[in-house]
Amino acid sequence: MKKKFVMIIDQNRCIGCDCCTIACIKENNTPYHWIEVETLNTPNKDTPQGKFPELTMDFLPKLCNHCSNPPCVSACPVDAIQKREDGIVVILKEHCDGCQLCLNACPYGIIKFNDVMSVAEKCNFCVHRVEQGLEPFCVTCCEGQAIYFGDINDKECKISQLLVELKTFVLLPEKGTDPNVYYIPPRPRKRF
Ligand code: SF4
Repeated sequence: MKKKFVMIIDQNRCIGCDCCTIACIKENNTPYHWIEVETLNTPNKDTPQGKFPELTMDFLPKLCNHCSNPPCVSACPVDAIQKREDGIVVILKEHCDGCQLCLNACPYGIIKFNDVMSVAEKCNFCVHRVEQGLEPFCVTCCEGQAIYFGDINDKECKISQLLVELKTFVLLPEKGTDPNVYYIPPRPRKRF
């Protein structure tokens, strides 16, 4: 069976440290944030939600969803964006003509335009590492061990088991893109 790589991000374990963002910048040598950690229900990372002692903070790391039905691919007039056999969506920079149509086509607003090189950029699941049997660098560097990555068609893989056992959600399912980045939502907190 063909491989199909997916990611799961556990919001219960994400501490909003931005290690994933820094790891991605270092690994991919880009000044742009291909993964960004959003702070939920509060204006910034200095302001928890709720009243002491019942304070909470939730985070949502966002990156390319490597959609099964990716509108960015069909929007690209020069076939610079391709969905690989293993499910990873890549931008071939050498083919990109800088038209930026993909930026509007992606409903997640996840594609960045590199003004210096005049090309579109985004997360590629660290495909250069995956091809060597390694995981994306954000997974390796995640301080809270909140990110899982693997082949959903490998039933022995932890990611396949998590998707069976746990309730997960994807972003903007109504857009019909069929994302391959899943989130484990925060569990209800205990009251002290
Ligand atoms: Fe394309 Fe956006 Fe889906 Fe990534 S998240 S595959 S850039 S449509």
